Amino acid sequence: MRPNQFRHASVVTNPGEYREGRWRTFEPRAPIERVLGGKPTLLRPGLTFTPYANPTPCNAHCAFCSEELLRLDATRLSAKTPIGDRPSYFAALDAALTELAGFEMGLSLSGLEATSDPEWLLQLLALVKRHDALFPERVLYTNGSGLHADARLIPALVDARFTRVELSRCHFDEQVNHRVMRFDRDVEIRARGAFEETVRRVLAAGLDLKLVCILNRQAVATLDDVERYLDDAAALGVQRVVFRSLSELGTLYRENRETRWIAQQRVSVRELMDQVLPEGGVARAGWTFEGVTSGYYYYNEVYRRGGVEVVLEGASYVAHHDEVQAGVVQKLVFHSTGELCGDWVPNAQVLAKYDGAPRARHVRLLKSLAETKLPFVTYGTAGLLLLHPELELTIKDSDILLGPEALLPFVQWAQSRGAQVTSWSEPWNAQWTAADVAGRFYIRATFGDLQLDATYEEPDFSIPTLIREATWHEGVPVCPEGPLLAMKERKRVRRD
Ligand code: SF4
Repeated sequence: MRPNQFRHASVVTNPGEYREGRWRTFEPRAPIERVLGGKPTLLRPGLTFTPYANPTPCNAHCAFCSEELLRLDATRLSAKTPIGDRPSYFAALDAALTELAGFEMGLSLSGLEATSDPEWLLQLLALVKRHDALFPERVLYTNGSGLHADARLIPALVDARFTRVELSRCHFDEQVNHRVMRFDRDVEIRARGAFEETVRRVLAAGLDLKLVCILNRQAVATLDDVERYLDDAAALGVQRVVFRSLSELGTLYRENRETRWIAQQRVSVRELMDQVLPEGGVARAGWTFEGVTSGYYYYNEVYRRGGVEVVLEGASYVAHHDEVQAGVVQKLVFHSTGELCGDWVPNAQVLAKYDGAPRARHVRLLKSLAETKLPFVTYGTAGLLLLHPELELTIKDSDILLGPEALLPFVQWAQSRGAQVTSWSEPWNAQWTAADVAGRFYIRATFGDLQLDATYEEPDFSIPTLIREATWHEGVPVCPEGPLLAMKERKRVRRD
């Protein structure tokens, strides 16, 4: 499938005019408004979503690593804030994806090295599968280290319906490659043999594989180098290779080791394009021009050489930054802090913050029940925490008192959100009416690891009265404090 901004060779009479205009020939689609974190946000259809992969520091240290570039308006790097408490992280990511339901996006799994911690990646893939309809396209960007080291990962990517793996390699010679990519000592894929084995395994699994070669003076710099790389790739059975120039940084970034290296080692992709397809339109021997693609901050030309599709690509972080400033979100990045941003920089364009702590997750669940307008009040520990957020109590489950007429609608609501509903450990029977569970006091709805107990019979208090007298906190109705404490105390005495 071609990107929608692809122009076929037959309509490109003069590629030079695209090379001059570069990404400015991108024609964006009209934005769509979505509410994220309670605020309206304009999203560009077709954008990609990145759960920023930093479960561990990267196991390579590429001399050009963009994750080490600090923009002048940034206060910190995502790369330096590794993902902390995993259950909270995944719950927060789940909440973000739930809010985005119905807005189709490309999943672009990048950041640091997504395969460096296989357990994190496997958990992430399971979450992606739960939000299956959200991501028609799924791409992993990787240095391949975990794919070689852990046999579970390639099958798991197939199972999670990944459409492509983009595997970075600056050169087929392992020493030349290592001078630029600088893998940690124990990372096997630094060796050519391990790299080739990984390529073969990815191809054998049926995944679409694209090799990514970052052009630079220390590895692949000339058209001869490019062709040698392509010969090696073709011999391995690879059918797609992209040669990317180092991004143009303008004056947006603080000078550091990486910006200096990039400035010194940058190779002009424009010059390579001019050599492959000079003005006048006759492509170099062995190369066939297929077309051009414009993205919002990149421009590329697509060729075929033998059995390999070859992409020559340039990108500009300045163009990226200009588009981002225009007020329409072009990219979504979910950071380790639970922040969903319209930008790679964690403190810029924060659209929403998702809290994956148990209290926040219970409150979100109760709030979504309140939005249905079903009559209920929250009591127990969840109610107390809503009345007194300063209390440091551990919340294990949520308790509500439910208006008797709301019992069946509550069951429908819980089941529509994927909950298991039980009455005294029996699975809810679709034939049951309220009369069938009379005298059983409560039902239990289990949403993954969240439990919600709904009591519809209360011997000491009138449920309709408590619902009438409820006070609202964070969008949730809460039982008056006196009866709430009395019921809590009654439960404690019974337990004692
Ligand atoms: S593999 Fe990627 S994240 Fe790691 S150092 Fe290289 S460019 Fe940076």
